[in-house]
Amino acid sequence: MAESIYSNGTKVWFEDKERGWIPGEVVSSSVQGDGSVEIAFITERQKEITLKSTLKDITNNTSKLPPLSNPSGYEQVEDLTHLPHLNEPSILDVIHNRYAERKLYTYSGIVLVAVNPFTDVPIYGQDIIQTYAGHKREELGPHLFTIAEEAYRALQRDTKNQTIIVSGESGAGKTESAKYIMRYMASVKSNTVRETTSSTSVEHQVLATNPILEAFGNAKTSRNDNSSRFGKYIQILFDDQSSIVGARIRTYLLERSRISFQQRSERNYHIFYQLCEGASPEERANFGLDSDATGYRYLSSSSIKIDNVNDAANFTATRQALAIVGIDEEKQLAIFRLLAGLLHLGNVEINHRRDAKDAIIDEKNDAALQKAMELLGIDAAEFAKCTTKRLIDARGEKFSSARTMDQSIGVRDGVAKFIYSCIFDWLVLRINASLSSNDAIQREKSFIAVLDIYGFEHFRTNSFEQFCINYANEKLQQQFISHVFKLEQAEYALEAIDWTTIDFSDNQPCIDLIEGKLGILALLDEESRLATGTDESLIDKLNSQLKTPEHKSIFKDHLHGNEAFTVAHYAGDVSYNIDGFLEKNRGTVPEEHKDLLTSSSNDFLREVIDVGINIGIDTHHGPVSKSKAVGPSKAVSGRKPTQCSVFKSSLLTLTEALSVTDIHYIRCIKPNESKRAWEFNSPLVLSQLRACGVVETVRITSAGYPTRWTYEEFAARSILLSFLHTAH
Ligand code: ADP
Ligand code: MG
Repeated sequence: MAESIYSNGTKVWFEDKERGWIPGEVVSSSVQGDGSVEIAFITERQKEITLKSTLKDITNNTSKLPPLSNPSGYEQVEDLTHLPHLNEPSILDVIHNRYAERKLYTYSGIVLVAVNPFTDVPIYGQDIIQTYAGHKREELGPHLFTIAEEAYRALQRDTKNQTIIVSGESGAGKTESAKYIMRYMASVKSNTVRETTSSTSVEHQVLATNPILEAFGNAKTSRNDNSSRFGKYIQILFDDQSSIVGARIRTYLLERSRISFQQRSERNYHIFYQLCEGASPEERANFGLDSDATGYRYLSSSSIKIDNVNDAANFTATRQALAIVGIDEEKQLAIFRLLAGLLHLGNVEINHRRDAKDAIIDEKNDAALQKAMELLGIDAAEFAKCTTKRLIDARGEKFSSARTMDQSIGVRDGVAKFIYSCIFDWLVLRINASLSSNDAIQREKSFIAVLDIYGFEHFRTNSFEQFCINYANEKLQQQFISHVFKLEQAEYALEAIDWTTIDFSDNQPCIDLIEGKLGILALLDEESRLATGTDESLIDKLNSQLKTPEHKSIFKDHLHGNEAFTVAHYAGDVSYNIDGFLEKNRGTVPEEHKDLLTSSSNDFLREVIDVGINIGIDTHHGPVSKSKAVGPSKAVSGRKPTQCSVFKSSLLTLTEALSVTDIHYIRCIKPNESKRAWEFNSPLVLSQLRACGVVETVRITSAGYPTRWTYEEFAARSILLSFLHTAH
């Protein structure tokens, strides 16, 4: 009897609630009177299952029968696309088997899948770097360094710019991977002759950006003790000798809300705790820091210490790193002075009058206010006045109206968030100024960029931040799909396969819904600019304008009233809670406060605010391409740029920049939620493999995979023969 797809002894996968998938095997198969095929299986749990299907469905691979598992020899294959049977359980099984053998990395065609070990593994040392240097992908097993080396070779060979996109959910290992790649780039050339060997060599400076951005942009969250709260695109610049001459950084969407509020078990940005723990007695006295972190409202709502983290020692490391990129002691003190100012600002007491809702600040007796304003160089009485009262300009006539206590607190916290994000922008600007100086740009011939960006997010409650993040992921996914598509198309052309019949999942409709002319972003911006706009009016607008046939399958009716809207993303449906959308998008402080800040007697504060205010108006982050300095926001000139318009244009610039580089993909996977070493939760891993497109790509790849076609054709023929044989 000829071989068939499901014949006795054929190994398959059965879905299992606990383990995701378990092995099973065909014990009998027979053709029924109506022409259907009945197949009996036995699973590993000794359960017998009989299923029916039509021959047509089996040959077309559309049957509900369990997917096939692979013959022995493929359990730990290095590249998933080499699997004869490419399906979810087989992919998961290989990754799991490899992980159990302490192999963190697996290829999936052009993608490197990386599973977080949650413990130190001795595979990143200088000796390993030198082992990978100069070797081709086929010669050594899958590793971050193979990808880094590939990018580096391609750069040398074609002088074409390279991008390594590292994605994955929070805690999956993106930032660690990105750092190892940067370290690889910085060391791979270090055994060659070099002119400078000083301790502030360019490589040192490039690496020093990591501790700085982590101190100011990372925080402990429930998922990751060192979670990056911003996206980062860093270009490492090379000269014509393939030596590093500098770097250029662009950051995306720093999470501002964390400044004034953190969930329990989470923290504010590391730098605050570093300052509280690590400042010298003299600095403490200067900044009025007479308490540890528990004494500050912005820090005390959360956990103060992280296991195995020494904030004081890290403060020293942050200062050293700042010095390496040219931010001297004096400027450092100026930064810390502002940070201390923010801590005191958070402690300003805002109450309401006994007989009314009106907010009140006891400006004479509030020591926190006095200290905060002294450090920030702002008049305390002025600040108190415009924080508790709103200046209204009605047809040229000015009068003031009282704010409620909650509104005033919102203003106080808004000012703190604004100042902090300006400090962060200023840092990035300064780092760029020293790492992509004119000299570096003169010598720059090409770059290798690493994009470390938040993966698709789907929490129990999702807000503005998740919306922006998921929008970014839609854009990257689109680029990814078209990239894979192009590769495959070329392959099909070679094999003379008609690729037009192959179905690719296209996420353009979702992108249109978000960034189209009358899409979500446009409506959000429109509402944000209206003085009368509220979250409620926004959701009404979204519902009335977007519930159209065009967006029907993407923009979904919400079941729980008018509090949220749902978008069908490529990785799944996400409902966004409308609460706070407008405020987060406006992201600015009242004009009166802006005036206070820009006329502060603290020179450094004025400098920092100036940088922050110009965000979206000029390109102070440094252009992503050398030749053209694409400003992120021509569309918003003359108007206050909103958070999402800045984000949208920076994404646009990013995707443009990516499109002219060779792209390498690393997909980081978090194998368990409890950060435990070597623990592998299959359903959790599978959902991430789906969300990051690994499963999807494998499907695309296998749809046109020449050997697979042959296999299916062969199988289809043989199953037919075998059943005809049985029937007779
Ligand atoms: P992400 O940037 O994706 O949120 P991180 O890169 O910060 O995640 O990784 C989270 C944590 O996981 C790290 O702090 C580290 O403890 C661990 N980790 C990640 N990658 C590795 C690795 N390659 N080796 C050892 N531990 C790792
Ligand atoms: Mg990170």
